[in-house]
Amino acid sequence: MKAAPRRPLPQVSDIETKPFWEGCARGEILLQRCLDCSAVRHPPSPICSGCLSSRLEWVPASGNATVYSFVVVHRAFHAAFEEDVPYVVAIVELEEGPHMLSNVVEVPPESVEIGMPLRVCFDCVSDEVTLPKFKPA
Ligand SMILES: [Zn+2]
Repeated sequence: MKAAPRRPLPQVSDIETKPFWEGCARGEILLQRCLDCSAVRHPPSPICSGCLSSRLEWVPASGNATVYSFVVVHRAFHAAFEEDVPYVVAIVELEEGPHMLSNVVEVPPESVEIGMPLRVCFDCVSDEVTLPKFKPA
């Protein structure tokens, strides 16, 4: 029997994103907050897009979100995902404001709607990587 292909995974050792991935491994979403203008941002970046400050802190998100936009994937674009179709790839709007690309899980894809309230859940996919995903709240 042929072994299942390995899933492509995010790089978790990048200095800018490492705290985010460490948070996911502990079961929390961490967001960057600017220490000069208080803007909260995601994905992590070295400077604030609002005021260009590089001073930041990491703050935990509530884990509450809503569906901002989504697609249902019916054709796997990578062999490692063939058994998962159909699945939902969504842009979720976190309660704190930033958007995040993720999956909506634990619900039939045809039941997903824009504006649907969501709650984060975590999928430990390797020793290093835990992915934040979302399920109906
Ligand atoms: Zn700022």
